[in-house]
Amino acid sequence: MAIKLVEDGPETQSTHQRRRGERRLDFGTAWEYAPAPERPDHVRLRDRYGLFINGRWVSPESGKFFKTINPATEEPIAEIAEGSEADVERAVAAARQAYESVWSKMRPLERGKYVYRIARAIQERARELAVVESMDGGKPIKESRDFDVPTTAAHFFYNAGWADKLSYAFPGRAVRPLGVAGQIIPWNFPLLMAAWKIAPALACGNTVVLKPAETTPLTALLLAEIIREAELPPGVVNIVTGAGATGAALVNHPDVDKIAFTGSTAVGKLIQRALAGTGKRMTMELGGKAANIVFADAPLDQAVEGIINGIFFNQGHVCCAGSRLLVEEGIHDVLVAKLRDRMATLRVGDPLDKNTDIGAINSREQLERIEQLVQVGEDEGAERYTAPCPLPEKGFFFSPTIFTGVAQSHAIAREEIFGPVLSVLTFRTESEAVERANNTFYGLSAGIWSNKGARLFKLATQLEAGVVWANTYNKFDPSSAFGGYKESGFGREGGRHGLLPYLVVE
Ligand code: ADP
Repeated sequence: MAIKLVEDGPETQSTHQRRRGERRLDFGTAWEYAPAPERPDHVRLRDRYGLFINGRWVSPESGKFFKTINPATEEPIAEIAEGSEADVERAVAAARQAYESVWSKMRPLERGKYVYRIARAIQERARELAVVESMDGGKPIKESRDFDVPTTAAHFFYNAGWADKLSYAFPGRAVRPLGVAGQIIPWNFPLLMAAWKIAPALACGNTVVLKPAETTPLTALLLAEIIREAELPPGVVNIVTGAGATGAALVNHPDVDKIAFTGSTAVGKLIQRALAGTGKRMTMELGGKAANIVFADAPLDQAVEGIINGIFFNQGHVCCAGSRLLVEEGIHDVLVAKLRDRMATLRVGDPLDKNTDIGAINSREQLERIEQLVQVGEDEGAERYTAPCPLPEKGFFFSPTIFTGVAQSHAIAREEIFGPVLSVLTFRTESEAVERANNTFYGLSAGIWSNKGARLFKLATQLEAGVVWANTYNKFDPSSAFGGYKESGFGREGGRHGLLPYLVVE
């Protein structure tokens, strides 16, 4: 890492500094890092992946494959099987057979050991999983390496611990597994979402058929390898790749007992309609439009880091991203100025570079959606600032962008953008902050920044959001439950509550 000191040029030095003959570090422009790319040469990927059914790799019945591409280079990485109804049928049959004959009969302590073994194997292959996650999905390696993969392992460890202690989780009640769980996950946290789904299901004694997102199937397929190496009984975990039609086949399969879905509110509604009246259980983790509320008494520099982390890291590809910044009127200008300064230092680019803050947007389609909504923001009259970050020539990238002068009625204050775009609104009183924060169809998460503990606790109970962070943002732990209010969905994942969707409690 090379740090450049700005030594001359009266325009870059304050009069005070010049008089004292000091040099100053110009944080806005002077930091220059040598490229520090994580090497992908240790990664063992195949050219083509089949479906993982009944403990084996099998070809899709249709013989069809699609390419998964690296969004930072637009190059194909591997060919992925397109699962059809017939493949889903095979997978569900394998899951049912494994459920009836082995998994539901196994002593919970033994089940827990298998889940624990998966966690250990994830740790052993952590570096490879992180690199593949960044190659396939576009997220910066520091996110996949420091957050996604360790948290994935932590979820398996945590749930392994519950396997033989379920009677303590629900004292005085008898619990039993549901059967076969169909699980459909999105592209923003491909491996972590697989863990959120698979780990509690297995610990509670269910078997699963998982469908990863079509743009990010690779780490789920590496997880299939891990599951095979961990010698789980065949059929306990099945992974069927494909797009929406494959997911719909899983939803509509009559022998699936439960659907767990994470994805867009629009698809979540389709699935709820399809499941209505079938008696199948379901949990939905859908979109969000989180409010990050900053009071004048907040530690502002800390808040700036939290706001930046909440919306820009991970390209804003987070359902709980703090995409609406509610600022107490008196500090609006100073906070926005600090944000703009910090935004100008963010590095957008190669996801495999360890210095990258904002990687690639997951797909061309998603990039176009972001561009379109940003255009709507401008057309509606909000003031746009896009940080002058140099962008790579190839690949799907978007510079961090902030809109000020946003009204509650603007599309950018209401719709989920799922990109590095922040909308700033103001408030004058506590009750106005709560009213504005809750004025949304969504309710997944919220943040509050203030130095008054009493205010934090009071507001936390008034905000209609499944998770409320206080003086921090985007903190996760397998032992705390995550889930939504309103159109952000229902059911909880993580913690003791996250076991409930996979159990019949009598
Ligand atoms: P996102 O906005 O995160 O891309 P989607 O809701 O489009 O969310 O996708 C989330 C997951 O749902 C993906 O695995 C996708 O293939 C799957 N999916 C899309 N359409 C359907 C559908 N009609 N039925 C079931 N699953 C679907």
